[in-house]
Amino acid sequence: MHFFAYKGKNFSAEGVKVEDIVKKTGTPVYIYSKKTLRTHYGAFTKAFDEVDHIVCFSVKANSNISVLRTFAEEGSGFDIVSAGELYRALKAGANPKKIVFSGVGKRSDELEFALKKKILMFNVESPEELTALNSVAKRLKTKANFAIRVNPDVDPKTHPYISTGLKKNKFGIPAEDAVREYVLAKQNLKCLAPVGIDCHIGSQITKIDPFIDALEKIKGLVHKLRSEGLEIKYLDMGGGLGITYDKEAPPHPSKYGEAVLKSTSGLDLTLIFEPGRVMVGNAGILVTKVLYVKKNDDKTFVIVDAGMNDLARPSLYGSYHAIKPVKVSPSAGEEITADVVGPICESGDFIAKDRIMPAVKSGALLAVMSAGAYGFSMSSNYNSRPRVAEVMADGKGYKVIRKRETFEDIIRGEK
Ligand SMILES: *Cc1c(COP(=O)(O)O)cnc(C)c1O
Repeated sequence: MHFFAYKGKNFSAEGVKVEDIVKKTGTPVYIYSKKTLRTHYGAFTKAFDEVDHIVCFSVKANSNISVLRTFAEEGSGFDIVSAGELYRALKAGANPKKIVFSGVGKRSDELEFALKKKILMFNVESPEELTALNSVAKRLKTKANFAIRVNPDVDPKTHPYISTGLKKNKFGIPAEDAVREYVLAKQNLKCLAPVGIDCHIGSQITKIDPFIDALEKIKGLVHKLRSEGLEIKYLDMGGGLGITYDKEAPPHPSKYGEAVLKSTSGLDLTLIFEPGRVMVGNAGILVTKVLYVKKNDDKTFVIVDAGMNDLARPSLYGSYHAIKPVKVSPSAGEEITADVVGPICESGDFIAKDRIMPAVKSGALLAVMSAGAYGFSMSSNYNSRPRVAEVMADGKGYKVIRKRETFEDIIRGEK
């Protein structure tokens, strides 16, 4: 769900006409809805009301400080995958005691920064990382709380690039090796404290089964670890719950919650979740302007001012984003089949292929829907394009929460 809708002929973000925002900011521009962010956080945390749990928003899905602050104000924790994300989360007012640090390739300076900030736990992804974390903790004369990210070898049935819990993926430690690594760490790595167990099987998952399959494997490990005398307090289920981009029908967080609670009842663990996409995906749109409409033989290209550097998902994963006209035109009803493409010098630069859409003319504004997750956060300066502005709509008002970059911004630091 979200709070983007037509008010009469005008597509609006909460109580603000998108056209009015664009008059001030220009295009392309990402627009988020604060009420949608809050509602999504509320629905997710409510699903686990009856048990101890921490919702750690996955910063990489959308790392704008105002977005993070909105979640922090609601009580959210954060899942980070770099020191840069930790820096952002802290700037946004995050409570370090609700921060978990994931990722296969944490550098020692990143481990150090996070240890100094006293985060809740490190989700460790290899035996060598355990050793590295122990050395840094020893040098700082402290103890590091860790969970092992277990690779449960389950198929989340999503796009191969965003499936992470299969044996062939680079993530985690295989389930059959995990207990051994915990026991070795307990014996040999005195500056580590095993406090949790973690898995994250992928993204844009639209069925409950893969989560529960993974959970069953993890539960088996929790029992083994406890019988080895390890005090496991946290079970981190990762993120991955999908959203509706087109016709997908992912389970509502409440259904996911029911299934997880049923499977974990009696375990006496604090549950941790790392939702990203489900919190922000439908809370953001990318507004772009039609520059030209071009017909080559029997193909129509709608050339817009947003490119794959601004929204990489269609090019990277072939993903679908609905496209809506910002203003319903007097000729509404007339349709075309077109490729919506950007200005980047790559044939892979497209937002939609063979899309049936309203006939549009040069100058028209289009809203690319469900662009709040992995949209701006994946954007780049490719083709020396300044990164676009970001706006937060809030009731009848809005704020620019990131200025459009200038040419000076894009050459900063260069000689
Ligand atoms: C990306 C990621 C998430 C968030 O995934 P979503 O599909 O956006 O919910 C959570 N945990 C880890 C470790 C991740 O890498």
